[in-house]
Amino acid sequence: MLTCRKVYADIPFAHRQHRHAGHCARIHGHSWTLSLTFACREPDRHGFVVDFGGLRFLREWIDAHLDHACVLSADDPELAWVRPKDGSVFKLLVVANASAEGIARHLHGALDPLVRAETGGRAWIAELELHEDSRNSVRFVP
Ligand SMILES: [Zn+2]
Repeated sequence: MLTCRKVYADIPFAHRQHRHAGHCARIHGHSWTLSLTFACREPDRHGFVVDFGGLRFLREWIDAHLDHACVLSADDPELAWVRPKDGSVFKLLVVANASAEGIARHLHGALDPLVRAETGGRAWIAELELHEDSRNSVRFVP
């Protein structure tokens, strides 16, 4: 198996963990870093796992769904009033669990099929690392 890694740094978005007893229950932002490890059994005709020049679809997904968004859990009781009419004031991303771990799992579920589709099933996301900041990160390995 071959792997390569692409890092998307400084993605600003907010989240909250509404079940947390401490300050993580309040909406707060981080400048997140998303690190994707791609894998394949055989490289493409250029010898690449994935062509870094052909990953615009990932950047576009990040910009459309994460950049300047607020990520909330599907069972967050505040969702009743934070349904935005459009994304001009408040961009909302609802995931099963808005912890960093839950967001990492959600991102893998969203991005891995895109990578598989783009590469005809030849490559996939073998590992996803999500950094809240320089100190705290989570890793999702399917
Ligand atoms: Zn946080």
